[in-house]
Amino acid sequence: RDVLVTVRDLIRFGVSRFNGHKLFFGHGSDNSWDEAVYLVLHALHLPPDQLDPFMDAHVLPDEKERVLDLIDRRCIDRLPAAYLTNEAWLQGYRFFVDQRVIVPRSPIAELLTAHLSPWIPYPDDISNILDLCTGSGCLAIVAAHEFPDAVVDATDLSSDALAVAKINVQDHGLNERLSLYHGSLFEPLNVNRRYDLIICNPPYVNSSSMDKLPAEYLHEPRMALAGGLDGMDLIRKIIEQAPQHLSEQGMLLLELGHERAYFEAAFPELEPMWLDTTESSDQILLLTREQI
Ligand code: GLN
Repeated sequence: RDVLVTVRDLIRFGVSRFNGHKLFFGHGSDNSWDEAVYLVLHALHLPPDQLDPFMDAHVLPDEKERVLDLIDRRCIDRLPAAYLTNEAWLQGYRFFVDQRVIVPRSPIAELLTAHLSPWIPYPDDISNILDLCTGSGCLAIVAAHEFPDAVVDATDLSSDALAVAKINVQDHGLNERLSLYHGSLFEPLNVNRRYDLIICNPPYVNSSSMDKLPAEYLHEPRMALAGGLDGMDLIRKIIEQAPQHLSEQGMLLLELGHERAYFEAAFPELEPMWLDTTESSDQILLLTREQI
């Protein structure tokens, strides 16, 4: 460890430890280099996007200890980096996170920052948005930023998650335009309210896949991942109830990971549009009110 002198040394050390432990990446970064850079810069209180000027800088002994401690906890405890730093980044937006919520990563955020182009023709007509299973509030908050004239509601069954979401809504200065509700799916909402866009990254992991998730997932709230025997428990309720809450031109946008076959088996009569994103292989489906 005495040979670790510079920022570069620490990053290389992190990469080799991460590779040696065969860690899973997918909770923010997708490879050992990016993850090591992120943790080193964070521990040294350096800006997350400015590596080059600091590569050859020497680190102080206590800074080195901080970095090595983070690397250890990432490898030995298999904690996702976001829980070590209490922050996560999604499409350039920063969120507070802890183990009360899953780590923000839904590719729905990428669609929102592109204003759903090229998938929908009139994004300017979206003035009421609902985010179900909001967790940290990340998708609701990205939606509120990207659609500055829209009003956003968000619900979650977990009051623990909503406590985290509340911190984020506050941090992003969105108290006026984004409301959080505690309850199951649509249940806490005003029955007369109609939404032009409903977004949701629901729990959709089926029972047999739950047992195969990498160790990092074991630190995340199980209720945010587990979707019952075929993964579709919550999605059934969403599809059933969504039409009453969508405006005439309203659309439902659901993240489904790699569970398309399970969806098609559960809803043979539905013909959603399957959307691609550039940054993820997770699938997202779009259904209009008419299609449901
Ligand atoms: N496989 C998904 C992921 O890693 C699980 C998240 C979910 O159930 N929504 O993001």
